[in-house]
Amino acid sequence: MHLPLYRPISDLPAGRYAPSPTGQLHLGNARTALLAWLQIRRLGGRFILRLEDLDPARSVAAYARQILADLRWLGLDWDEGPDVGGPCGPYEQSRRQAFYDAAVDLFRRSGRIFPCACSRKDLAELARAPHGQNEEGPPYPGICRNLTPAAWEAKLRQKGQCAYRFQVPEGSLSFVDAVAGPISQNVRQAVGDFVVRRADGVTAYQLAVVVDDALMGVTHVLRGDDLLASTPRQILLYHALDMPVPHFCHVPLVLGPDGARLSKRHGGTAISALQEQGIAPEKVIGFLAYTAGLLPEPEPVRPQELIPLFAEAKLPRHPWRVTEAALAELGLSIEKNH
Ligand code: GLU
Repeated sequence: MHLPLYRPISDLPAGRYAPSPTGQLHLGNARTALLAWLQIRRLGGRFILRLEDLDPARSVAAYARQILADLRWLGLDWDEGPDVGGPCGPYEQSRRQAFYDAAVDLFRRSGRIFPCACSRKDLAELARAPHGQNEEGPPYPGICRNLTPAAWEAKLRQKGQCAYRFQVPEGSLSFVDAVAGPISQNVRQAVGDFVVRRADGVTAYQLAVVVDDALMGVTHVLRGDDLLASTPRQILLYHALDMPVPHFCHVPLVLGPDGARLSKRHGGTAISALQEQGIAPEKVIGFLAYTAGLLPEPEPVRPQELIPLFAEAKLPRHPWRVTEAALAELGLSIEKNH
């Protein structure tokens, strides 16, 4: 049962960088983008830039433009993307609703999803019960999955709107990540039936990313390991769509001097801030490649020169913490922006 709009694109390997335009590109994002680009350039495949501007409340067009400009300033390029087009467009999630609707329809017809009228408040009350939590709260306890049709109708009348949840099968899901190694998760126990379409009609990240990667023929997903815990859910969706599961490579994050994941709070680590300080892009690339285990010293280099040096086995297994001292040594002065 393929996605109705699916057509095979090409036999080439394909990778992507898929930023959400909710902030500036910083050293951590830039490192992930560089590594995803190197992986696919090394394989001679297609590199895709996709803007994950799915959530209108959080996406900012000016950030999207800046992210693309920053990536180009660093010396990265892409074969397909919002600004260059390509056979699998559009390359902005905000323009791909028809594809997500097709997947939701397919799942609805095959009974893989069910409508859920539980409000956040209902679930928050349940969350106070002492059972296992994950980053998104306690596992969904299956309330709406188990209602009789009459009870469900009554609940929907009372609540007025509903989300759609994917019905997670029993059992463990296992895969091997190129960096994190063998991973096994009982999705039913860890997260339960998860949302694929929110009650406000916005497609959930988990579904959008799988539909897009599948339709764009992505064979290699290299991204930050904050998304490792989402991957078993995504693999379930690939299986349900009968689409091939890509090769996954989750790279540990870059942390700020305070040990927290790099974010907008660490304003000076934004690529545009480094550019304004007059730092050469080769210097930034050399520094990122050094922190990723691809260079023994942080010497200036162009992305192109790193292609033969890329190997998944070299990628770091632990987060890398940007210290002010390490940056100062390189002439990268990180102004504080707390
Ligand atoms: N849009 C996500 C982010 O900016 C990345 C999603 C992915 O690579 O699967 O963190």
